[in-house]
Amino acid sequence: DKGLSKTKESVFGKIARAIAGKSKVDDEVLDNLEEVLITSDVGVETTLNIIKRIEARVAKDKYVDTNELNNILREEIATLLTENNTVDADDFSVPSGKKPYVIMVVGVNGVGKTTTIGKLAYQFKKAGKSVYLGAADTFRAAAVEQLVIWGERVGVPVVKQKMGADPASVAFDTLSSAVANNADVVIIDTAGRLHNKIGLMNELTKIKNVMQKVIPDAPHEVLLVLDGSTGQNAFEQAKQFTLATEVNAMAITKLDGTAKGGVVIGISDQFKIPVKYIGLGEGIEDLQIFRRREFVDSLFG
Ligand code: GDP
Repeated sequence: DKGLSKTKESVFGKIARAIAGKSKVDDEVLDNLEEVLITSDVGVETTLNIIKRIEARVAKDKYVDTNELNNILREEIATLLTENNTVDADDFSVPSGKKPYVIMVVGVNGVGKTTTIGKLAYQFKKAGKSVYLGAADTFRAAAVEQLVIWGERVGVPVVKQKMGADPASVAFDTLSSAVANNADVVIIDTAGRLHNKIGLMNELTKIKNVMQKVIPDAPHEVLLVLDGSTGQNAFEQAKQFTLATEVNAMAITKLDGTAKGGVVIGISDQFKIPVKYIGLGEGIEDLQIFRRREFVDSLFG
């Protein structure tokens, strides 16, 4: 697939160059590696964490050459992703026993929120589930229109109200319709305004509280969408949204147009929230379930 192979060439190429021609892992190799990881948007904290792990293993195994370094690095990154409770699901499914399964999608404008919702609706529908979408981003007319277009494309109903309506009220209507129609999955779009922390927190809390009048344990999933091509901005947004609400899954988009797959490693390490999906293009099929092994393989070739 086009997306991940783009990621692969770049990060792996850089690592290969950083350690080429070296017969052992010395400070210079580690310095080069550190630079590659940081410029691949792994993030400073996570990079230092990885370097520390490698230093410990090099000291223990004494005579590690640079080929082995590749393997060690691959293992350490895979371990980091596992420790952070990667979902590693087999397919687009939702837990049974929660009907409808309610997903509230959060993230700033432009990261690919609407597109991700459309792609997810498509996958769930393909898996035989009935899906309802809720247009609770009522602040932008374009957001509602976009979601309606996706709803038509996928063939699922979109619940909406007029521009400027109360987002919580849209969420309430959507859940009520979904329950009345015995739907399997509900996906609620929310406004991506990072005006200030308290404002964001209040808005999302209100939507949740109103949802719980219909389904007491909703939302089951709070999915944060981040743009993988924005590097440090993605880290900052993850910080803001995890402070404002209980995010329990992430989707990282636009990993096709960038060499910055490293963002997935850093975000996963720093926020300890599983990356569930990755976006690899603008098309309806361009969403994949994040699979740890596949991802690590794609980084290292
Ligand atoms: P929203 O404002 O967060 O709802 O963002 P949209 O869903 O409208 O997406 C913003 C732009 O990013 C659109 O042009 C999408 O087609 C594009 N986009 C979304 N996801 C991806 C992705 O995974 N890869 C690429 N290349 N583009 C994407």
